Amino acid sequence: MIVDRQGRRFRNLRISLTAACNYACTYCVPDGKRLVAAQDELSAEAMGRAVAYLIEAAGIERLRITGGEPLVSPRLEPFLRVIAGLGLQDVSLTSNGQLLARKLPVLLDAGIRRINVSLDTLDANAFGRIARGGDLASVLEGLEQASAAGMRIKLNMVPLRDANLDQVLPLLEYCLERGFELRFIELMRMGHLARDGAGFQRQFVGLAELLELIGERHPFIQAESALDATAMRYEIPGQGFFGVIANESVPFCRTCSRLRLSSTGWLHGCLSSGSRHYIGDLLDKPRHLALPAMQRLLVKALADKQELIFSGGATVMKIIGG
Ligand code: SAM
Repeated sequence: MIVDRQGRRFRNLRISLTAACNYACTYCVPDGKRLVAAQDELSAEAMGRAVAYLIEAAGIERLRITGGEPLVSPRLEPFLRVIAGLGLQDVSLTSNGQLLARKLPVLLDAGIRRINVSLDTLDANAFGRIARGGDLASVLEGLEQASAAGMRIKLNMVPLRDANLDQVLPLLEYCLERGFELRFIELMRMGHLARDGAGFQRQFVGLAELLELIGERHPFIQAESALDATAMRYEIPGQGFFGVIANESVPFCRTCSRLRLSSTGWLHGCLSSGSRHYIGDLLDKPRHLALPAMQRLLVKALADKQELIFSGGATVMKIIGG
């Protein structure tokens, strides 16, 4: 097992199935271009082999499929079939929910019972301005159907001062009524926001402000969360839970156990590091050659992790998944 001086190791793998997305969210894609897959994306079989090797080489236990938008990828079904027999403790998905109703049978057939859906507003006009693709009604329909089918649902919202701060309470109440858990993700200095400090500061809404806003309407208490969890969790007694992923306010680098694989075969050990490590060329090699080479790259990827502070980076989130 590869462990660093802080006792950190990779347990959770996030795979970006494709860089293509049917949205172009303002904080993720500055040029508004949608549906652009990266060139040379790995096949479903190669991605499946990557997962198998990473389970063995790094001790990966849990997998989250993300993107881009995983539900637009033709590789989704074959990939789910390939990983079905790998013995992972948990497989989940992060999606914008636009195609959720249509793809629900595929997800249920593959045994996926947990999904995170990114939704920044319940206002159809604001939705159009932020997502710049898709429509709100389809997302809400997908959520209702997934919930009725017994899926455990978390909603991800990125609060932005000028775009959706008025939606913090409506989205929270929407989730509490349905038994979904809302997670606020503090805006991260990724991609163009790493270069646009003023733009970032203008839109950033931090943990303290969010908690004050929520506490005025819904008194809450702090709740337990797993040691390597990224979200601080809170309970509104008798109503439900919400969380905040406070990358900026309370960085969780010290306990981070995440490893990311891009759709083109690059490993990323840390969002705040510009380093990445190519494993695409190892996936056709026999196990006895691929595994030692992969382990050497994993040592480097683990060394990329920051000690304490999340500082963001030039990498665009849709390339490596959120
Ligand atoms: N398309 C899927 C979705 O919408 O959930 C998966 C990919 S998306 C990149 C994953 C998550 O990253 C979303 O919840 C999105 O809001 C978040 N995200 C993207 N850029 C971000 C940024 N600069 N700061 C914070 N969250 C960001």
